[in-house]
Amino acid sequence: MQEPTIAFYTLGCKVNQYDTTVLEAAFLDRGYRKVHHHDRADVYVVNSCSVTARSEAKARQAVRRFRRLHPPAIIALVGCYVQANAQSARELDSADILVGTGTPHAVVEEVERALGREGPAHVLSISPEQMARVGERSRAQLKIQDGCDAFCTYCIVPLARGPVRSRPFCQVVSHARSLLEAGYREIVISGVRLGSYGRDLKDADLARLIACLDDMGHYRLRLSSIEPEDVTTDLMDALGRSRVFCHHLHLPLQSGSDRVLARMGRRYRSEDYRLLVEQLRNALGDVAVSTDVIVGFPGETEEDFADTCQLVRDMGFSRLHVFRFSPRPQTAAAHYDPKVPPGVQKERSAHMLALGARLSEEYHHRYLGRTVEILVEEPDSDSMLVGFTRDYVRVRFGGHHDLSNHLVDIKINAVDADGMWGELAPGSGAR
Ligand code: SF4
Repeated sequence: MQEPTIAFYTLGCKVNQYDTTVLEAAFLDRGYRKVHHHDRADVYVVNSCSVTARSEAKARQAVRRFRRLHPPAIIALVGCYVQANAQSARELDSADILVGTGTPHAVVEEVERALGREGPAHVLSISPEQMARVGERSRAQLKIQDGCDAFCTYCIVPLARGPVRSRPFCQVVSHARSLLEAGYREIVISGVRLGSYGRDLKDADLARLIACLDDMGHYRLRLSSIEPEDVTTDLMDALGRSRVFCHHLHLPLQSGSDRVLARMGRRYRSEDYRLLVEQLRNALGDVAVSTDVIVGFPGETEEDFADTCQLVRDMGFSRLHVFRFSPRPQTAAAHYDPKVPPGVQKERSAHMLALGARLSEEYHHRYLGRTVEILVEEPDSDSMLVGFTRDYVRVRFGGHHDLSNHLVDIKINAVDADGMWGELAPGSGAR
C-alpha cells in the first residue's frame, strides 16, 4: 500500500497543540505522510477542545467538513470533547474513531486497525528530533504536567484531563537540554495547570525547575498560562533571578468582581490579583501581563461587569482574551441562576474586546520608534516575516527567509492593537 496521508486539525490550548505534535511524530514514524487539512487525506485527526460550547461546535463542524471533503477517509475525533462529553461525541455519525485524552497510542492503534495495518504503538512522549520534524523550528513546547483538580465551577478541564500528573524533574531537564541541542532558541513550559507542577513528586516545583533551566546557555524561556495563586514568592524570586526568562506572564483573571470570583470557585479576590501584579512588576521590572476574562457568568450584574472593566483598565494588560460564559455539562455553574441573557453577554463581550484592543495598542505604543530584539519564526507568507519580542508582541517586517530561527533587531515604525511593523535596524546582524 502507498504511504497513507494524514491531516491534523487542532483546537484549544498549547497543551492540545503539544499533544497533536506527539501524535504527528508517531504517525510520521509509522510511514504516514502529512498533508494540510484543507487537502484530501486518508486520515483526519481532529484534536478537540471542550472549554466552551463553541469549541465543541467547531470540532463537530470540522469532522463534518472532512467527511464532505473526502467521504472514504478515516476520521478520528480525539481529546477533551470526547473525554468530557462522550455522549454528545458519540452522536456524531461522521467520526469513525473516538478517543479521549491521555492515550495517544490508542489513536494510532485504532487508525492503523481501520486502515488494515496492524501492530501496537507506543507513543508517550516526543523526542526533540521528532519535534524538529513536525513542530515549529524556533519555539518548542515542553509539557511538564497534565491535569487539574481545582474544579473552578465553570470549568470542564478537570473532567477532561483528570488529576495533576507531573513529568519527572530529571526527564523535563534532560528534554529541555536536548531541545536546545536540536537548535531551538526558545522553550515554552506548558501544562494544564502549570503551577501545580511537582505537587505529586518529591522535591520538585516550578521555582526549582526555572532555576535549573537557567544554566543551559543563551536561549529564551517562556511560561504558558499560570494561575494567580500559583505564583509563589519562590517562583517570583526564581523568575527575577533568571537570565533566560522572557518577561511575559499570562495570569487568568476571569472577573474583577469578588462576588463573581467566589461563585466561580476562584481562589483569590480582586485585591489579591492587583497586589500580585504590583509585586511582579516590582520584582521583575518591565513585565507584560496578559489575561483571560469571562463575561456573562450567571448572576453577573452591571456593577460586577463595571468592576471587571475597572480592574482590567487599571492592570494595563498587554493582551486580553475574552470568553462569553457557556454552561459546560457536569459543572456546577451550568446550574447557576440567573442566566445573563445572550444579548447582554454579546454587548459585554464587545465592550471588553474593545477595551482589550485599546490596552494592547497602548502597550505597543511604547515601542514606536524604538529598536527591539525579536526571534524570527518560520515564514508563513512570501512577503512578510514574523517574530516575537521577549514580552510576546508580534512584529512583522520584510526580510529574507534565511533569518528564520535567528534573533534580529527591528526598528518599529507602526503599531496597532494586533502587533507591530518595522524594518531591520541598520547594522543588525542575525544571531
Ligand atoms: S484552574 Fe480552574 S480554570 Fe484552570 S484548568 Fe483548573 S479548573 Fe479549569
